[in-house]
Amino acid sequence: MRTPDDPFSLRGIANLHSHAFQRAMAGLAERQTDPGDSFWTWRETMYRMAGRFDPDTLHAVASQLYVEMLEAGYSTVCEFHYLHHAPDGKPYADPAAMSRALLRAARDTGIRLTLLPVLYMTGGFDGRPLGERQRRFGHDVDAFLALIEALRADEDASLRVGCALHSLRAVPADAMAAVLAALPRDMPMHIHIAEQLGEVQDCLALRGARPVEWLLGNADVDARWTLVHATHLERGEVDGIARSGATVAICPTTEANLGDGLFPLRAYLDAGGAIGIGSDSQVSVSPVEELRWLEYGQRLATHHRNIAVRGGSPSVGETLLEAVHASASNATGLDGAGDRVVLEADAPQFAGATPDDVVDRWIFSGNRPLVREVHVAGERVVAAGRHRDRDAIATRYRAAMAKLLA
Ligand SMILES: [Zn+2]
Repeated sequence: MRTPDDPFSLRGIANLHSHAFQRAMAGLAERQTDPGDSFWTWRETMYRMAGRFDPDTLHAVASQLYVEMLEAGYSTVCEFHYLHHAPDGKPYADPAAMSRALLRAARDTGIRLTLLPVLYMTGGFDGRPLGERQRRFGHDVDAFLALIEALRADEDASLRVGCALHSLRAVPADAMAAVLAALPRDMPMHIHIAEQLGEVQDCLALRGARPVEWLLGNADVDARWTLVHATHLERGEVDGIARSGATVAICPTTEANLGDGLFPLRAYLDAGGAIGIGSDSQVSVSPVEELRWLEYGQRLATHHRNIAVRGGSPSVGETLLEAVHASASNATGLDGAGDRVVLEADAPQFAGATPDDVVDRWIFSGNRPLVREVHVAGERVVAAGRHRDRDAIATRYRAAMAKLLA
């Protein structure tokens, strides 16, 4: 994880789960609309925001977000992208226009991108059609595969095109089977799963199994798969995911913000499971905060400290960061070669630091950003804590926000 000669130089971090457009609503869903507010009422606010985007505003918001990610130490982002069409549900003249807006934002800012076009077909496990606000997310299988094929022409060392299934409730079983049969075996596959108890209950009622149980029984889940959230698991599902080699993308700040629940981290690590982190709804864009809260959630639930350790190191920070690095190439399909994060070695938080405690100090002390430089594929994109185009991109972002909030 560290270069032997410099404990302040770390590998770039992969962000395994992002919806870029949600950056525009971070902080805007924190007012009570109903005493029963939940994930499902949040989703209505999110749909209202989603309905306002076009390719230009998406490009501006994603660019700002990617600057923030780079400045925080993420060098790769997996974009779980379902905002495909115009608000009325009609494809744009270029059906990939929204995907290309994300691609341009990644190219402009220098972050590596795993672009995951999302298949979204139904409004629930019962197969009901998409609601009015979901129309711009929808595809049939053929149009979806054509989108992936069109985007793959742009693949290179900084862009990998994968595939995402929005969730079991949004993808009928036969459509899932058709997509999996049509795509190359080595393509990254991501899916939201078992985030909400309601989803677990519906899946049990309509498919006769819990979501993860059903997926493991109906797809060849292996190391190319990333299961996003996987919050609500029974013991057999914990072991099943770990055995499959799939990665679980845990998004602690979003899961806390949405009231999802706590991932069974200790049991899953004991089973040898692979983990990564994601910024998801962008309520926080910080690997420090995701890793810190991944551990803190477990402490609050168990009344113990230093939960996330295994085998090699007694350090919680190193264990978590090493786990995140170990899953990165499987989950992103990119190698991250030449991606480095250089910490601010002379910051007070590092006074008296030894090579063994640098990562714990970074993750578990203070709230000042301590990232000095970020290099992606050997190119320096952040220096003295600032992205090279921070100001110009923030100016464009403010103009886009004025349009989106008008
Ligand atoms: Zn998500």
